[in-house]
Amino acid sequence: MIIGPKQEGNWYYDMLNFISQGVFPTDLIRDERKRMALQSQKFVEVAQELYIQGIDNILRRCVPDHEQKAVLTEAHQGISRGHFHGDTLGKKILQARLWWPPTVLKDAHEFANRCNVCQRLGQPIARDRMPHTLVLALKPSAWNTRNKYILVATNYCTK
Ligand SMILES: [Zn+2]
Repeated sequence: MIIGPKQEGNWYYDMLNFISQGVFPTDLIRDERKRMALQSQKFVEVAQELYIQGIDNILRRCVPDHEQKAVLTEAHQGISRGHFHGDTLGKKILQARLWWPPTVLKDAHEFANRCNVCQRLGQPIARDRMPHTLVLALKPSAWNTRNKYILVATNYCTK
């Protein structure tokens, strides 16, 4: 059984097929098969999806090629509308437990550098600062009697 449509050069389906079925892609030579078998030790199949266990022991879902742009778009300018810088964007994706090769961080940098909105607005400057205002006065809950206040801060200008 082949999982998903076979796409030329798509690492995801080749690795998923190898993990689930033990089948190498037909176009690999002997050394490439050895390399793939070695690399496959980091991958796990869960519910017909591919996951990788990183050096931090966190299991991250591998994102197929056709989903990567949507992930980058959502993390960069989605619901948070943060238009985050490449470093932050890459870390957000990894924190969301997503991953793809060769590197999520490089793709995040390139995506953030090509964002039309970010290029028009540029980096935040002193003029963009917003005054710090108290949003809501909070009292610690009854069970925590040692503290008098809870401080909540929002950073508006860091990308
Ligand atoms: Zn942007």
